[in-house]
Amino acid sequence: MTLRVTVWNEGRHEKKNPKVQQVYPEGLHAPIVKYLREQGMDARAATLDEPEHGLTEAVLAETDVLTWWGHMAHGDVQDEIVERVHKRVMEGMGLVVLHSGHFSKIFRKLMGTSCDLKWREAEERERIWVVAPGHPIAEGLGEYIEIPHEEMYGEFFDIPAPDELVFTSWFQGGEIFRSGCCFYRGRGKIFYFRPGHETYPTYYNEQVLRVIANGVRWAALPAGPKLAFGHRPQPLEKIE
Ligand code: ZN
Repeated sequence: MTLRVTVWNEGRHEKKNPKVQQVYPEGLHAPIVKYLREQGMDARAATLDEPEHGLTEAVLAETDVLTWWGHMAHGDVQDEIVERVHKRVMEGMGLVVLHSGHFSKIFRKLMGTSCDLKWREAEERERIWVVAPGHPIAEGLGEYIEIPHEEMYGEFFDIPAPDELVFTSWFQGGEIFRSGCCFYRGRGKIFYFRPGHETYPTYYNEQVLRVIANGVRWAALPAGPKLAFGHRPQPLEKIE
C-alpha cells in the first residue's frame, strides 16, 4: 500500500525572510516532499495560506500521515482546522510534528501541557543520540546524527512523559533535549522530531530525512479497534 502523506508547512518565513528563501527557495517542505516521494510515498504539500490551510475534509480523509512545521503563525491556524486534525488523529491518522511545531495548537492540544522549552540561536553543534536502538524510527542510523549548526532546544521540555523515547540531543552549549518522542492518542500515533530551524539547511540532511521517513512509516502502522465509548445497557454475557 502506498502511504499518503501530507507535508504541512506554515510557509511564512519563506515569504518574509531572505535568508530562509535562500536556504529553502521552494519552501521548507520541498526537500521533505521530494525525499518521501523518492521513498515511494505519495507525498504532497499543504500550506497555511491555502483555503482551509490546505487541510480540507477531503485532503485529511486521504491522508495516512500528516507532518507539521509551524513557527511564527501558530495563532493563525483556525481552531476549526485544529479540531478537524485532532479528530483524524483520534481516528488513527499519524502525525509527525517537526521542530517549532512543538508550540502548534494541535501538538499542545494533544499533549495537554504547555510544551514550553529553552532555546538559543548560536549556530551550535547538535548531536542527536539514538536511545532506543531497536525502535523502527532508528532504522538505518548510526549511534548518533551530528548536525553542525542548529538552534538549541533545552530541557525542561514541558510534555507528558513520552510513550517511547527514540532520541536525546546534546548541544555544544551544554543543554540536552528529548528530541525524538512517540505518543499514542486514541488510535493515532504521534512522533515529535526536534531539528529543523528555518535558517539552517537541516532538511537536506540525509539522516534527518531518513528519520522523518521512518517516523512517517511508524505513525502509519495499522491501528487496532475503532474507538467506542458510552453507556452499554446490554452486557455481553448474562450477569448472574
Ligand atoms: Zn527554530
